[in-house]
Amino acid sequence: MLLLLLMISEVCHVIIHTGVLCRLYLPSEIKIKHNKWYFILDLLSAIICFMYVGNVYIFPIQLGHTIGHLFYIYGWNTNRYASRIQYWSSYEYTGKIITPDFFLTIFDIFTHGCLVYQLLLTFQ
Ligand SMILES: [Zn+2]
Repeated sequence: MLLLLLMISEVCHVIIHTGVLCRLYLPSEIKIKHNKWYFILDLLSAIICFMYVGNVYIFPIQLGHTIGHLFYIYGWNTNRYASRIQYWSSYEYTGKIITPDFFLTIFDIFTHGCLVYQLLLTFQ
């Protein structure tokens, strides 16, 4: 049951982040600023998932994901990098799409995708 919940959670993160990356789903900047909990759930889901199905090959990816998310969560409304990715992810953003935040989002999707793959292997 827990693995199924983790699978749903990880797939949702892949879908939502891909929606932002492809500019199909863009929440308002103010909504993102008030949804720090989403990033916390993103982090916890990935950590719990890694504890169940992780391996040495995805450990560096998971570690990078964890450090990055802790960095953003810690300074959610004060850190300029957190503010930058919040703005980039928002409906209000009007700048270039290909920025460091574009690649950070790809890394995030890749991390959750790896965890989905590992979960799928356990269902065989
Ligand atoms: Zn993530």
